[in-house]
Amino acid sequence: MSEKYQNLIVGTGISGAVLARLLAEKCQSVLVIDRRSYIGGNCYDYFDESGINIHKYGPHIFRTDDEGIWCFLSRFTTWHEYIHKVRTKINSKEVPIPFNLSSIDILFEEPKAKIFKEKLILNYGENKKVPILELKKSADTDLKELANFVYENIFSHYTLKQWGFKPEDLGGDALARVPVYTSYYDGYFTEKYQAIPMPSYTKMFENILNHPNIEVKLNTEFKDLKNVKYERLFYSGPIDEFFDYKLGALPYRSLDFKFETLPQEKFQSVAVVNYTSKEPYTRITEFKHFLAQNNKKTTIAYEYPSGFELGKNERFYPIPKQENETLYKRYLELAKKEKNIYFIGRLGEYKYYSMQSAVSAVFELVKKLNPV
Ligand SMILES: Cc1cc2nc3c(=O)[nH]c(=O)nc-3n(C[C@H](O)[C@H](O)[C@H](O)COP(=O)(O)OP(=O)(O)OC[C@H]3O[C@@H](n4cnc5c(N)ncnc54)[C@H](O)[C@@H]3O)c2cc1C
Repeated sequence: MSEKYQNLIVGTGISGAVLARLLAEKCQSVLVIDRRSYIGGNCYDYFDESGINIHKYGPHIFRTDDEGIWCFLSRFTTWHEYIHKVRTKINSKEVPIPFNLSSIDILFEEPKAKIFKEKLILNYGENKKVPILELKKSADTDLKELANFVYENIFSHYTLKQWGFKPEDLGGDALARVPVYTSYYDGYFTEKYQAIPMPSYTKMFENILNHPNIEVKLNTEFKDLKNVKYERLFYSGPIDEFFDYKLGALPYRSLDFKFETLPQEKFQSVAVVNYTSKEPYTRITEFKHFLAQNNKKTTIAYEYPSGFELGKNERFYPIPKQENETLYKRYLELAKKEKNIYFIGRLGEYKYYSMQSAVSAVFELVKKLNPV
C-alpha cells in the first residue's frame, strides 16, 4: 500500500517547517521528512547535562523588522528578549564588534580618538553603518588610517580563517556586510525584534509542525523513500546532491565545534567573542548568555572553520564566489525542467539565509503557488 500526500517536504529546518505549516493551514496534506534524527535543521538546539541550552550548529539569534514574520513565529513560541553583543580582543583589549565609537575610545589615545570620531560623524553622519570598503576609499588620511586598522585587525585574518582565502578574493556581498558604526550602540544587530525562542528553538519547531495535516518522518533519506506518492515536492536539501552532482559539487565552508563544560559560572563577558588574529578558531560562544541561564557551570564552544568534505563534515556556508554562483545557476536550469519540484532554503538555493530571510522566502513562494 502506498501513502498519498499532496505535498512532500524534504527537510524540517526553518524553510521546510514553516512551509509545511502554511500548506497545512490551507487544508493541504503534508509529509515532512528529515535524514537527521531531530527536527529544526541547523536551528536545532538541546539542553546539555548541565541544563544549558546549546545551539548545536552555532549561535543562532532570531532578528527581524518584519511584523508579519514576528507575529507568525510568535504563534509558536514565547521569546526571551536578547540583544546580541560581540567582542573581539585587539592588543589584549576587549572591544565591541561591529567596530563603533566606543571601540575607538578603548583602542586609541586622545587626540587621535577624538579626531577619528569627529571625522566619521562629519563624513557619514551619526548612527550610520559605514561599510568597511567604503571607509577604505576615503580620501581623508585619518579615516583611511582608521579603515586600514579595522581591516587589518578585525577583518583580514578573520576572513582568511573563516573562508580559507583573502578578503579581496571574496564576493562583494561578504565584504559589504562588515560595517563600522558611527554610534555608541554596541549591539551586533539593529533589528527591532531580537530574541531567542523560549524554552528552545526545537520546541518552537515542534509547535510549528504540530498540525493534523502534517506528518513528520525522521531518520528518513529522500532517496530511500518508498511507497509514498505526492503531487508536489519541496526540497530543502542540497540541489547538487539532488542531481547526483552531475555538473560538479557546489563548494561550502564547514565548521567544527569543540564543546567544553567548565566548573565556573562565567567564561566571558558576552555570548560571542571573535578571535581575529592567529588563533586557529574564529570565535568562542558561551551559550548561557542567550537565555540568561544561572547554572553553576558553563558550556562554551570553540569554532574552527574548514572546507566541506562530503561524508566527513556538514555544509555550513555557501562560498560567495562568482564561479560558484554560476555553477548554482546551471543547477537552477536543470531544476526549472522538473515539474512540481521546488528547491527551497539555504541548501536548495545555495544561499546564505538568515532565519528571517528563509521565512520571508517561504512566505513569497506560498503566495505564488497555484493552487495554494
Ligand atoms: C554558524 C551559523 C550561525 C547562524 N546564526 C544565525 C543567526 O544568528 N540568526 C539567523 O537568523 N540565522 C543564522 N544562521 C542561518 C540559519 O542557520 C539558517 O537560516 C537556517 O538554518 C536555514 O534553514 P533551512 O531550512 O533553509 O536549512 P537547514 O536548517 O539546513 O535545513 C535543511 C534540512 O534538510 C534536511 N535534509 C537535507 N537533505 C536531505 C535529504 N536528502 N533527505 C532528508 N533530509 C534532508 C537536513 O537534515 C536539514 O535538517 C546561521 C547559520 C550558521 C551556519
